[in-house]
Amino acid sequence: MKEKLTLKKDIKVILFLLLLITITIYIFLQNNVTNRNFDNVSTDEPKINYEITDTFESDSDIIEKIFANGMNQEDYKKIFENESINMNNTGEYEKIDYDFENIMHYSDFEKYLNELSKVDIINLYKIGSSVDNRNIYNIEIGKGDKVLLIDSNIHSAEVANTPILIKFLIDLTNKYVSGDKETIDILNRVKIAAIPCVNPDGYEVFNFGIESINNKELWIYKNKDDVNTNNFKYNANGVDLNRNFPTQSGGLYYKDKDLISSVSLSKTTKKYTYFGGETLGSEPETRAVMYQMLTHYKKAYAYINLHNQGRVIYSGKPNLSDEYNDITISLCNRIGDITKYRVHGLEREEVGEGNDGTASDFMAELANGFVFSTKTGRLSTSSYKNNNCTLKYSVPAIVVETTRDYHRDPKYFKEEYYDHGVKEMLFDLLNYGISLQNNN
Ligand SMILES: [Zn+2]
Repeated sequence: MKEKLTLKKDIKVILFLLLLITITIYIFLQNNVTNRNFDNVSTDEPKINYEITDTFESDSDIIEKIFANGMNQEDYKKIFENESINMNNTGEYEKIDYDFENIMHYSDFEKYLNELSKVDIINLYKIGSSVDNRNIYNIEIGKGDKVLLIDSNIHSAEVANTPILIKFLIDLTNKYVSGDKETIDILNRVKIAAIPCVNPDGYEVFNFGIESINNKELWIYKNKDDVNTNNFKYNANGVDLNRNFPTQSGGLYYKDKDLISSVSLSKTTKKYTYFGGETLGSEPETRAVMYQMLTHYKKAYAYINLHNQGRVIYSGKPNLSDEYNDITISLCNRIGDITKYRVHGLEREEVGEGNDGTASDFMAELANGFVFSTKTGRLSTSSYKNNNCTLKYSVPAIVVETTRDYHRDPKYFKEEYYDHGVKEMLFDLLNYGISLQNNN
């Protein structure tokens, strides 16, 4: 009996040891899978150089209200430390056949991006995660030194340009892989770096409802009874990302009149009212776009920020250099000729009304040599008002509002792409980059 008992014990010990070994091997393999992503951290991406200043605006005494604090220097620094992760897939690219057939989930588009990343001249990077933990991507196509920066869907309800931009990237890739000489030549000389969807949580919410939010603790879910998804602009934290950028005038009001009515000083579910955050640069989506801009702006030749409100183009910034406004208006007119969208000039742009801190403001200020001020927590130069800056990098930052309104039905995206010149505009933006090289 005793012997039998010891044998039973031994078997138990052996089984326990086997289990332990299995668990150890499993954990080891899991870690290796996770680490593999980080081993792939891109080395060919341009490094950001971390420029700061202690400039303090000379006319800061005119500020009447600060309703979003500047960004903490440590948080700004974290953007530089958060390197993008190369997500390239291997294998043979299978031609994607997509023509706006269905309303797509964000995860469907992720599959397309993964497929595209198999092509030799394409790199897919994860540059951040949304509030509800969806991946935010930058996809780069081309070998050229000069970069076209483009992003879309920063506003939740403005979903049309995500499928439009992805369709364009697919068309471009399919032409390239089928050996189209013109496309090959273009992509040898320029590069496009695109964020097809800045606000993926907003994309899902607008198309499929608030139940698509995974984290039920988020502001948007807690306020789901009041949020009207048909015109919702924010991210899942209730912040308008396109007012959340730490630009010189972001979160400030200094005009000699009332705050414009669309400005909200706190979170709100009110229609057409934006809240830019309590602190600039507070949102992960904003920081992903900042990372994209800060890693590319010195080599960029244009930045296009796509929205969906009325087929118009906004050109120029009254607080920035004449030289900047000249190149910007000229590119706006070029886009306007193709799309027939109305081009709004400087007279439509206001600074200091509480309406600032947009993505295009941030890029335009970088182009004019502004750098992050440790005193104000914003980009900075010596003066707000007097165009007291010079163009340092030739990067026009342009807002293009495709489609007349917000839509879910993909037939409107298709119409805009083919019949309103958006496809042509996107191809032309690459040719524009080449024309700049020819002029040099
Ligand atoms: Zn918008």
